[in-house]
Amino acid sequence: MRVVLSDAYGFCGGVRDAVRRAHEAIREARETGLPCYVYGDIVHSKAVMDGLLSEGAERIVSPDGHLPGIVVIRAHGITDGIRSSFTMAGFTVIDATCPVVLRSQRLLRDSGRRTIIIGMRGHSEILTLQGSGRESYLVESPDDLSAIPAGIAYDAVVQTTFSLPVLQMIKEKAMQLGLEIRYLNGICPASSERRKALSSLAGRVEAIVVAGDRASRNTVELWQEGKRLGLPCFLVSSVDGIPDEVLAFSCVGLTAGSSCPDTLVEGIRRRLADGR
Ligand code: SF4
Repeated sequence: MRVVLSDAYGFCGGVRDAVRRAHEAIREARETGLPCYVYGDIVHSKAVMDGLLSEGAERIVSPDGHLPGIVVIRAHGITDGIRSSFTMAGFTVIDATCPVVLRSQRLLRDSGRRTIIIGMRGHSEILTLQGSGRESYLVESPDDLSAIPAGIAYDAVVQTTFSLPVLQMIKEKAMQLGLEIRYLNGICPASSERRKALSSLAGRVEAIVVAGDRASRNTVELWQEGKRLGLPCFLVSSVDGIPDEVLAFSCVGLTAGSSCPDTLVEGIRRRLADGR
């Protein structure tokens, strides 16, 4: 089978940096005899997390009941309250929060208006934004806008990996409702680049494989974008998870979410190229 790799796929700068810092923290903890913890999933990738845990890191969600050590904060950040609970308990905090997410937190905190957060309820980045010390409306779909009073000026911060089509629908509905909203940020450039590169693949292949985890929002967005482009599109999280029907095509496009490691992309590429 011919496999055409997307021009933009896999680890973004924020993820690459977070993974590097987690590995450095594990090494440092080993040398100093301290325990090393990771707060939640450093990035949304089982392959990456399995690697960190097998090297000796432990997952942690609170300092309670744990010996103080080094704790690495995930790429999508944590609330100020959780961060200070670790510092106060004597942990060394390695903050691997992506600069793009830190910027969103700062924009929200510094806004002089009432604020709106646009993103998925319960997503790690949204929990981080909600813990930034600002009371904000949460908008996940155009319907949520009906709870927001008109006649007041708002600032909105968007989840970096949010769905572009849903964001467009929210913006249109907000205009129809006469809501005055200033959008302080947009979808992360890394996510947009991967989406654009996928569109340019579409005319050249029979089907698309998106490598990555279902827990990764931008991976799911790529998968949905592939389907919107009208091609058979498959989300594949492991080399053994390639569905048989993919192997029936003679030319497949391959891309990967921004938390998917190169090793997994390469494993999938080889298996597809072998056609078995
Ligand atoms: S997708 Fe964007 S916001 Fe998320 S970690 Fe990567 S660069 Fe940062």
